[in-house]
Amino acid sequence: MTQPSVTTDRATAPVRAEVARRRTFAVISHPDAGKSTLTEALALHARVINEAGAIHGKAGRKSTVSDWMEMEKARGISVSSTALQFAYHSGASVDGRPGIDAVVNLVDTPGHSDFSEDTYRVLTAVDAAVMLIDAAKGLEPQTLKLFQVCRHRGIPVITVVNKWDRPGQAPLELMDEISTRIGLEPTPVYWPVGIAGDFRGLLDRRTGDYVRFTRTAGGSTIAPQEHLSAARAAEREGDAWTTAVEESELLSATGADHDEELFLAGQTSPVLFGSAVLNFGVSQLLDLLIDLAPPPRARLDVDEQPREVTDPFSAVVFKVQAGLDSAHRDRLAYMRVVSGVFERGMVVTNAATGKPFTTKYAQSVFGRDRSTVDTAYPGDVVGLVNALSLTVGDTLYSDKPVQFPPIPQFAPEHFRVLRGSVGGKAKQFRRAVEQMDSEGVVQVLRNEVRGESAPVLAAVGPMQFEVVAARMKSEFDVDAQMEPLPYALARRTDAESAAELDRQRGIEVFTRGDGVLLALVSDRWRLQYIQKELPRLTLEPLVAAA
Ligand code: GDP
Repeated sequence: MTQPSVTTDRATAPVRAEVARRRTFAVISHPDAGKSTLTEALALHARVINEAGAIHGKAGRKSTVSDWMEMEKARGISVSSTALQFAYHSGASVDGRPGIDAVVNLVDTPGHSDFSEDTYRVLTAVDAAVMLIDAAKGLEPQTLKLFQVCRHRGIPVITVVNKWDRPGQAPLELMDEISTRIGLEPTPVYWPVGIAGDFRGLLDRRTGDYVRFTRTAGGSTIAPQEHLSAARAAEREGDAWTTAVEESELLSATGADHDEELFLAGQTSPVLFGSAVLNFGVSQLLDLLIDLAPPPRARLDVDEQPREVTDPFSAVVFKVQAGLDSAHRDRLAYMRVVSGVFERGMVVTNAATGKPFTTKYAQSVFGRDRSTVDTAYPGDVVGLVNALSLTVGDTLYSDKPVQFPPIPQFAPEHFRVLRGSVGGKAKQFRRAVEQMDSEGVVQVLRNEVRGESAPVLAAVGPMQFEVVAARMKSEFDVDAQMEPLPYALARRTDAESAAELDRQRGIEVFTRGDGVLLALVSDRWRLQYIQKELPRLTLEPLVAAA
């Protein structure tokens, strides 16, 4: 290997310094586990720099950004997913490393299961995930699904057991559940003192010390915490402390101690207990993230060559959104910076088309309050306004060309045929379909028999169809009619198999927007029958959402 020259080292030093202090993560959880509450608690502990979108406001709580669609308001769910950036000064690590002025990017994931495809894309933009679990409910379906994506992508996971201020399961049982149900070995770093519902503080298993919390009214301010030695903790908490110490020893005896290599490989997960609503454990979570979660790293391109963080600017578009705010009718593309320095105004190249894109309108805050981003580093999320030419998965770069692999599309399970309203709106209809397709709101499938005017929409969850209908109406003034199709599965096929598959009952072949041939199949039995009778035909599973 050639040694980097001294001048290159010097030139890239500022980027390396910015990368070293950055952590980009998402919270994965089941609805109601406390993601919004935790996000607000994190913001309370940190200095918010940029909000690229929504901490979705629930009734009675301050909403940071206006909801972008009436439907979203009516349902009280967040359809969009964006990013919040904040600064946090972490304490020194237990092994003596000094604290750092960190920059944290929290990329929001929508909570509703029907928007899972969108959530999966968000997970391509992060370097770590926080798995938030309700102490009483344990692992829930949505968390399991999202965890599988983290595993698939090799994203390291930190686990937070939330709501410890309320009655819940025994802590060792929860650890067992994580280990046996998902095969992720929990390595608790902070162990609770006091059973669920009697939350007194945390045993720091790395030092053996005690962090004792005091409640504040309504959890609206940072909860005061005292650091006590084990001896003082024993005097103060009696049996609750003894139990915590015994359980911690039991964990050590079974090897459940943090191991950096295994954590980064996605095999173990550091665990922390907390209460988002009381702000207990929130600063510990931030310290853990900064201490343990990886900073942005090199990303492999389509040729499996690493794009180093110090290489010239490059980024991946992981989300595209239109109609965010009726006052700003435009199309926003969110990119995650992979390498180099982004400067607003720079002209970048879209690797898919080879065309230039001007980034004059780079922004970090959407909705009512927008602010301009001037500079961004690897790990940061930047919103590009007027990004009509950008689609999900696009690579942007300056100077040194690069193309990153496409973001995987998930196996759709719901299919509807779309028809526009009668009347001379064929052009709007086509434009609307094109828009939904390029944003990836749904997958759009076509075949010759059905023609252009009756494309088939394929979704991971049925609510995606409602979004399409609402947006076609509000943005294109098209009344979309949808009829369900009698298919339940999609399989990837090829040109050689297509004609013969099309002749089978209960099967229809389509071309997806990205050129992939998909065979839609009525049910599992039909699929098994065809696979048995005609084994030479290609019917490959797609990446499953669950
Ligand atoms: P999300 O759907 O995951 O965003 O969940 P929310 O943050 O909206 O929380 C769901 C409910 O749980 C709300 O009523 C919260 O006040 C409550 N909640 C969140 N965190 C805690 C916690 O640590 N303890 C208790 N007791 N309630 C909590």
